[in-house]
Amino acid sequence: MESNTKVLIIEDEEKMRELMKIAFKKENFEIFEAVDGKKGLDMFKNCEVDIVVLDIMLPEIDGWTVCREIRRSSNVPIILLTARGEEFDKLFGFELGADDYIVKPFSPKELVARIKALLRRADNRNIESLHNLQVGEILINRLSREVTIDNQIVNLTNKEYELLYYFATNPKIVFNREQLLLKVWGYEQYGDPRTVDTHVKKLREKLGQYNNYITTIWGVGYKLEVPK
Ligand code: CA
Repeated sequence: MESNTKVLIIEDEEKMRELMKIAFKKENFEIFEAVDGKKGLDMFKNCEVDIVVLDIMLPEIDGWTVCREIRRSSNVPIILLTARGEEFDKLFGFELGADDYIVKPFSPKELVARIKALLRRADNRNIESLHNLQVGEILINRLSREVTIDNQIVNLTNKEYELLYYFATNPKIVFNREQLLLKVWGYEQYGDPRTVDTHVKKLREKLGQYNNYITTIWGVGYKLEVPK
């Protein structure tokens, strides 16, 4: 279900807010607004917004502090607004975690374009983190079932992949052979525990220099742990 983009405007100048609101309404953005830094932070905590447009010179709490506070708990994209002639250090802004900045006076169209670009980037980041599982130097793509190490694809059989995936999603837990047979092969019983051993051996070989990620716990079974 497609929902409207929620934008939080934190800006004390009414004229600026009105200008942005007209542009945002055209885009069907849902608008939240705050007239000072303190109200802006409160609103941020209470509303789940997709993006924050943040003025730097603000009453109560300045934009730098608001930016830093938001970053303590969120990766939401932040665009800083800065007035021409205002002392502005863009490196400082990026260090605080801002994603972009725009100098006043700006065209609302330009601001909307920047917002859309940031939202696309944020979307891609989220999708990537959903699809990818990083275990030390090993990257597992859940969708393509591709495993890469140092940007090289590791060719795994179906069962080797499932075995690695099971270990990777349950790190540091020791599994005995029967448990692995059940979880990865789906055998309730009658499975040959040696099947597990041969697959672990093959998998380790294919992990190359990272074969020590999977360790044998003598007399018990195996676990995956990224060595320190
Ligand atoms: Ca201001």
